[in-house]
Amino acid sequence: MKLLVIGCGGVATVAIHKCCENPIFTEICIASRTKSKCDALAEKLAPKTNAVLTTAKVDADSFDSLTELMNSFKPHTVLNVALPYQDLTIMDACLACGANYVDTANYEAEDTDDPEWRKAYEKRCKEKGFTAYFDYSWQWAYREKFRKAGLTALLGTGFDPGVTSVFTAYAQKHYFDEIHYIDILDCNGGDHGYPFATNFNPEINLREVSANGSYWENGHWVETKPMEIKREYNFDGVGMKDMYLLHHEEIESLAANIPNVKRIRFFMTFGQSYLNHMNCLQNVGMLGTTPVEFEGHEIVPIKFLKALLPDPASLGPRTVGKTNIGCIFTGIKDGKQRSIYIYNVCDHQECYKETGAQAVSYTTGVPAMIGTAMVASGTWSGAGVFNVEEFDPDPYMDALNKYGLPWIVDENPVLVD
Ligand code: NDP
Repeated sequence: MKLLVIGCGGVATVAIHKCCENPIFTEICIASRTKSKCDALAEKLAPKTNAVLTTAKVDADSFDSLTELMNSFKPHTVLNVALPYQDLTIMDACLACGANYVDTANYEAEDTDDPEWRKAYEKRCKEKGFTAYFDYSWQWAYREKFRKAGLTALLGTGFDPGVTSVFTAYAQKHYFDEIHYIDILDCNGGDHGYPFATNFNPEINLREVSANGSYWENGHWVETKPMEIKREYNFDGVGMKDMYLLHHEEIESLAANIPNVKRIRFFMTFGQSYLNHMNCLQNVGMLGTTPVEFEGHEIVPIKFLKALLPDPASLGPRTVGKTNIGCIFTGIKDGKQRSIYIYNVCDHQECYKETGAQAVSYTTGVPAMIGTAMVASGTWSGAGVFNVEEFDPDPYMDALNKYGLPWIVDENPVLVD
């Protein structure tokens, strides 16, 4: 099966490593903006795999650049591990060239000052009640196009969204008649030794974390100020951590796909140093996305900041500690209330030894490969646009155990108040 991977950053590096271990992928083309990164990765992996590896330069913001590449390589499936800004262009190119589409993050506009985008955004804020710059409406609008083309688009197969959504489908299938409460917990107990760095793309990470939080309750969104809701939790493998309520994209799809759910929240852990730096950068305008004039040049503050911060892909050798990510579910089974926590613990240094990347890239890249394999093998099939929780979770859960992200079910978890 021919796979085209777009992007060659931290997540892509792990996803491609893992694709090379899965015999379903016989030919893999690694394409990105900076071709030298693709060449270096292909050279490193070629001796360890039976898959034929090729590389290409592509501008994923350009429909023409994408279709030229797709028409010559003719992929069965395209894995988009570039940035959320490119989701729609890549989906359009897949439709034009007859390829299935897979990604790990929903569409986000790069230029949030674009008047047409703003109009749609403000209408959505009013109608839905949350103000995040990203939401599923843009990609769900492609359902009919993919259905008519007989192609599959699988959205959000990273860890969160991705594995957390598959955990939900698994809990629904095996542990509950009705799930009422879902708390998604994302704990990174890793230490990279820098005063401040982000574990994945800084622009995407800082925009997400500095935005208002929100959660789903009784059929509507409740919005909070950034970092307004804080809890402490004692994570297996990590210990006690502060965690904060954020808006997160899988809340939107789980609210649509899990019947009877009353509340869905998402919490992420942050250390005080991270928060102090982020607040300071925000207060001085360094997280801005609107270009500013500086000594005759136009500079987008957050892009300039990205150039100064450590490259997330370079954190691997320095990061020690573990991640613990999972979901606490509370609901009803056979008339009785029960709660379970399904989670994975991942060690930064073990990930680095295996793939050269730290656990945040690893925990996203492994499920990116698994979701792609589900589509490529036809294990998950159907024409249209789907979120991962819409399919049978069992083969995906088996693959998590096989490819490096084993999971645990705790049937007596401490709950989050
Ligand atoms: P990186 O910034 O490390 O990598 C992004 C890659 O995309 C780079 O290789 C970059 O090229 C390439 N790229 C960017 N713009 C273009 C373009 N216009 N054309 C072609 N290639 C382009 O990001 P990460 O690997 O950390 O993240 C990748 C994706 O994974 C993001 O969408 C992120 O949101 C998502 N993610 C999802 C998570 C989940 O759990 N669901 C968790 C973490 C991340 P260059 O090398 O030239 O910069």
